[in-house]
Amino acid sequence: MNGLRKGSKALLRDLNKTLVLNEIRTKGPISRTEISQNTGLSLSSITRIADQLIKEGFIYEEGEGESTGGRRPIHLLFNQYYGYIIGIKIEVRKVIFTLSNLNGEIVAKAIKEYVKGSSSNVVMDIILNEIRLWFSKVNGEGKEILGIGIGVSGIVDTQNGILINSSLLGWNNVSFKSEIQRIIDVPVIVDNDVNAYTLAEMMYGAGKNLDNFLLVECGIGIGAGIVLNGEIYRGEFGGAGEIGHIILEKDGAPCYCGQKGCLERYSNEEFIVNRALELAKDNSNSILHNKSNEQVWIDDVREAAKYGDKVAIKAYNEAGYNLGLGLVSAINLFNISTIIMADEGVQAEEWLTPNVLNAVTNSFFSRYIDIEVKKSELGNIGWELGTVALVIKELFQVPLYKDRFTLYSS
Ligand SMILES: [Zn+2]
Repeated sequence: MNGLRKGSKALLRDLNKTLVLNEIRTKGPISRTEISQNTGLSLSSITRIADQLIKEGFIYEEGEGESTGGRRPIHLLFNQYYGYIIGIKIEVRKVIFTLSNLNGEIVAKAIKEYVKGSSSNVVMDIILNEIRLWFSKVNGEGKEILGIGIGVSGIVDTQNGILINSSLLGWNNVSFKSEIQRIIDVPVIVDNDVNAYTLAEMMYGAGKNLDNFLLVECGIGIGAGIVLNGEIYRGEFGGAGEIGHIILEKDGAPCYCGQKGCLERYSNEEFIVNRALELAKDNSNSILHNKSNEQVWIDDVREAAKYGDKVAIKAYNEAGYNLGLGLVSAINLFNISTIIMADEGVQAEEWLTPNVLNAVTNSFFSRYIDIEVKKSELGNIGWELGTVALVIKELFQVPLYKDRFTLYSS
């Protein structure tokens, strides 16, 4: 691994400080003795580090009180309001700005709409304006913004903060990081939106305590966040997780990506709508009978399914089974046993998931382990939470690398 800091007193000091801060952040209220037991650091070291952290405002003490067992030891707590994070989620018609504290609790939000198909310059201006506004507001209150996270659909060079390509937005080579840092000197992390969502699920949702899982987004597209050994796997150039383009059918339906028979064509929203309409042609009892795909959106099919419309339910069931077949390839490739479903996977869970499960339980590894398919715990908020999680994860990581920012890096 390149970019490792050299061994030094400063490195050791930063490491110990991060270790103590993370104990307090994730387990607090916690006593100095407990931190010492958990970390192996001496009580005198803990006391010295805690004093510094209190002085710097990262933590605070909880007032001592009497309990039935006698005097209660003083506990240390993390100050989640030490600073704030701006999260930016870019969608096809709007940009969602989220302000969160250091525990990922959202304290403010703004939505700025733009015309679909706008250039990246137009959207960049919206972003820069909003960032200026939020900085002056937060700084005016005597607080600091510690970083900006951006989630965007497409292939992202996370190292340099550049969106290389987004077929959804029609943008190429957008240097979010350098554009933002031209107006304001703050760490900026850019990542693919599904990866950001996956990170949120890993830190705050159904992926907590899981070292390996696949987060599957089923919507207009089919994509996945891949978590391996507790880290998001990005691949050679940030494009990992394009499971929607696993080939499901030899010489099947053409896909916009240039291949034929892609999974996406057999399980995305468009498939569900078109399949439901096709089935409805021969079923006069269906709410969707005699309708065209200009009149019917995925929400209409979902509503129909809720009312028990057999045609709508069948379309979902088929999409679920197809999705499951595609997922078998991912499961076999990574030996992953947990699938977390997002988007339609949450909203239409009852008609999709059982069939996904049906398909994956016939996979190679299901002979050895139970494969679990569960739904996202975060739902739609995961998209926004993910953008701030990108920064929070960096801030509290072990400060081992020269080129990555943390709260403690001398
Ligand atoms: Zn494709």
